[in-house]
Amino acid sequence: MLYVDDLVDYGQAALDRGLPGRHWCHLLADTETELHAAAQQLGLKRSWYQHPDNVRWHYDLTPAKRAQAVRMLGAVELDRAGLADLITRRRAAQQQPNPMAAAGLVWRDARHYDHRGDQPCALCGKPTPLRSHTGEPAHKACAEAWLAQHPGDTRFVSDPAPRSERVHA
Ligand SMILES: [Zn+2]
Repeated sequence: MLYVDDLVDYGQAALDRGLPGRHWCHLLADTETELHAAAQQLGLKRSWYQHPDNVRWHYDLTPAKRAQAVRMLGAVELDRAGLADLITRRRAAQQQPNPMAAAGLVWRDARHYDHRGDQPCALCGKPTPLRSHTGEPAHKACAEAWLAQHPGDTRFVSDPAPRSERVHA
């Protein structure tokens, strides 16, 4: 789910910082993966990603981009209480270990191995033939470490267990 909060007028201070306008709000999401995908659709640069601390990660939006996010991407408009709830949820999620990371990713499907060759891992930059379920180059260990730091995110997931497979406790 995507969210935008209320526009705030930063006045002359914003213009003094060289920003192209005075009014700004935040683009937020339940997961970083959703947030970056939405930012890309809105034409925002990845370098504009703001993560002043672990729970407040966001992109800043102009009024025009805010309207686009709501109209095109179905972003939910949050008031102050809604924003506070979102931050509380993020904080709670942070306390929970990511079950996928704790158990280790299961990447048995052939699509995780790219026979065409190595590509730089999206996380550490070193070459790897491994691919995530979305085709993103990543070492399994790097993906697991990333998940451990991003509770609740689904950027990397395990293969669905085959029906015949029994989980041994
Ligand atoms: Zn890596």
